[in-house]
Amino acid sequence: MPIATVNPATGETLRTFEALGQGEIERRLALAVTAFGEHRTTAFGRRAELLGRAADLLDADREDIARTMTLEMGKPITAARAEAAKCAKAMRWYAQHAEELLADEHPAPADVKDSGATRASVRYRPIGAVLAVMPWNFPLWQVVRFAAPALMAGNVGLLKHASNVPQTALYLEDLFRRAGYPEGCFQTLLVGSGAVEAILRDSRVAAATLTGSEPAGRSVAAIAGDEVKKTVMELGGSDPFVVMASADVESAARTAVKARVQNNGQSCIAAKRFIVQADVYDTFVEHFTAGMRDLTVGDPMEESTDVGPLSTEQGRLDLEELVDDAVRLRATLRCGGRRPEKFDQGWYYEPTVLSDITPEMRIHQEEAFGPVATVYRVAGLDEAVALANDTPFGLSSNVWTRDDAEVERFARDIEAGGVFFNGMTASHPALPFGGAKRSGYGRELSGHGMREFCNITTVWHGA
Ligand code: NAP
Repeated sequence: MPIATVNPATGETLRTFEALGQGEIERRLALAVTAFGEHRTTAFGRRAELLGRAADLLDADREDIARTMTLEMGKPITAARAEAAKCAKAMRWYAQHAEELLADEHPAPADVKDSGATRASVRYRPIGAVLAVMPWNFPLWQVVRFAAPALMAGNVGLLKHASNVPQTALYLEDLFRRAGYPEGCFQTLLVGSGAVEAILRDSRVAAATLTGSEPAGRSVAAIAGDEVKKTVMELGGSDPFVVMASADVESAARTAVKARVQNNGQSCIAAKRFIVQADVYDTFVEHFTAGMRDLTVGDPMEESTDVGPLSTEQGRLDLEELVDDAVRLRATLRCGGRRPEKFDQGWYYEPTVLSDITPEMRIHQEEAFGPVATVYRVAGLDEAVALANDTPFGLSSNVWTRDDAEVERFARDIEAGGVFFNGMTASHPALPFGGAKRSGYGRELSGHGMREFCNITTVWHGA
């Protein structure tokens, strides 16, 4: 894929970028090592000061960077502003909490004695340069949720961003530089995915985190495995949104619309499969379909737009294939299922609801990365749990119920990294984020995320 800004609302190529050459990659890897040598021993107070300054700059830049994101990947401008604000908030959260989250741990005195020590502790030390391979869908947030904890832990970052968001990628490097980070603490490597293997195999790169599709994750995890380097994988999702008969069905339907179409439907944690108990199925489907039909599809730069274009032409083709396959196999198309007629350019797709889904349809097992929902009818709790788990993915899940026994059952049995009751999945700096099954492994955010890229060191003292 060329490294370029292509406006998804028009299909027009606005700017192209040359990938970094070998010499420049080499220079930047060397710089990362030098920067780590200094940054790893800076005091938490100094790290917090730098990250706080980055947050202030980001707040000041909010309108500009929001427009850049919308231009590059088509998210509604209102969502782009919210994303920038969320990033600044997460930076401040880590600036405030990192020291406490990485404080030395002291085992119980009896255990220390039992180990033969006079004193023992556990220390969280940084590990070095972490390569972050990132996707375009939340082009600021995906990077910040890696960078803020990594920099606070004393690591340095190398960003290989998606090829369709180069201006956002360059903005990030500039942001950390302007905040006062020493040169090399956070660098953007404008390279295509073909360059990742050599960078990851380089001994100056200690570990990698990847957020993206399963094929990309499999490739990077395999290379890192071969090099025995730590990885965190945040991959695809096909999250269930279960509505039990005890739920507030209208409220569930309203939230379901948001949960499905956030970010033009291109969110890993978007609810994608709607599993509804038979008693409330008709009411839910009626409200949900009406909500999806009422959305304003339009120019993402317009304040009133709910759903903009898909980010790439290929993304729309992939989505169309999934819908066409389901319709061919006799799914019921309740709304959408086509490109809106009012646009003669751009990669728009109408919010779509499909029901009567059967296991042989591709959409039953694959991730629909766009505003397309599948709805299933289930008789009761056991069938709801089984269907929720009938997917290769396990990122997060949403369950609507007012029954305590049902809450307990879903919290115990859903195979996913999160269970959100009576609401929709959202990330927060204080809560761990990540998946099970083929949605990946490891966690981001909270102390768990920050400690993924630490050398957890036992410090033991004899006499
Ligand atoms: P993608 O094609 O996998 O791209 C993600 C990143 O990986 C890009 O930087 C891409 O670079 C790079 N890449 C692609 N193939 C690679 C390879 N073989 N080796 C090394 N790097 C490679 O994914 P996407 O289409 O941008 O993003 C959509 C996917 O991300 C969806 O499946 C979504 O669910 C998932 N996602 C997951 C999370 C989560 O937290 N779990 C969050 C957001 C998105 P190029 O752009 O240069 O190809």
